Amino acid sequence: MAALGNPTNTIAILQKYHFNFQKKYGQNFLIDANILEKIIHAADVRANDCVLEIGPGIGTMTQYLCEHAREVVAVEIDPKLIPILEQDTLSAYHNVTIINQDILKLDLNAIVQEKNNGKPIKVVANLPYYITTPIIMGLFESHVPLDSITIMVQKEVAERMQVGPGTKDYGALSLAVQYYAKPEVMMIVPAGCFMPRPNVDSAVIKLTRHDKPPVTVSDEKFLFHIIRAAFNQRRKTLVNALGNAAELHLEKGSILSALEKMGLSPTTRGEALTLGEFAELTQFLDEIK
Ligand code: SAM
Repeated sequence: MAALGNPTNTIAILQKYHFNFQKKYGQNFLIDANILEKIIHAADVRANDCVLEIGPGIGTMTQYLCEHAREVVAVEIDPKLIPILEQDTLSAYHNVTIINQDILKLDLNAIVQEKNNGKPIKVVANLPYYITTPIIMGLFESHVPLDSITIMVQKEVAERMQVGPGTKDYGALSLAVQYYAKPEVMMIVPAGCFMPRPNVDSAVIKLTRHDKPPVTVSDEKFLFHIIRAAFNQRRKTLVNALGNAAELHLEKGSILSALEKMGLSPTTRGEALTLGEFAELTQFLDEIK
């Protein structure tokens, strides 16, 4: 079994198995050992940890995870990668379970129950970029017991998760991530660290789950419906964006009076509101809906 994380051994494995990259699966494999060490360090992977890896590819980061963690669960959608992982790159490790599935369709709560007695796991992944947001939202909304999520994403997406009101990147993803976790960009990773080279730079971001959300609302789903509606029409005022969203069933008059109670102008846009203000607005609207 060759140690991966460098161009030579990666190419050797790809050629041995006649593997062709599938663009539709967002396959860009890490070929830089230094970055891999840094990711393990950023994720604070410890000897007693159970780690979920989303998209192991040919098993590059999985090898590092297996060396550091007690238990690794690696979920890979591409069936062509499974024999490479099972018979070659991960064959020496007895603390890894390889699952050939779409991460968005898997019952992660059941896996955490089975592999870690329902105790919080760590997620570490170089994510397929085409489904970054559904993966993150799925992890949070399914309430899988989680310690932290340390993931490679597009640099712009990492920035979007960290920003607050008044910036152009602020949106539904920033608010959702900050409701559930503390985001921290750990490092920027140049495109040259991957094979094939992506068109964008990447960043590793660590999302450390809050013990409890920083704001309290009686209806979490309603909060996220309001946030989504506010940013679906981000150039519109909140009164119009929320009033036009049929699924919310809100009268424009009610929205206006909620804004007035909060001391906000009737022309306020969603992009100006903090998470705390969205929570307050949700409470007002919840009481009159
Ligand atoms: N971890 C490897 C590395 O760092 O070299 C590969 C990372 S690559 C960016 C993303 C991986 O996710 C690919 O192996 C791809 O096949 C896999 N993948 C894509 N969509 C997936 C899905 N819905 N569920 C599970 N794995 C997926």
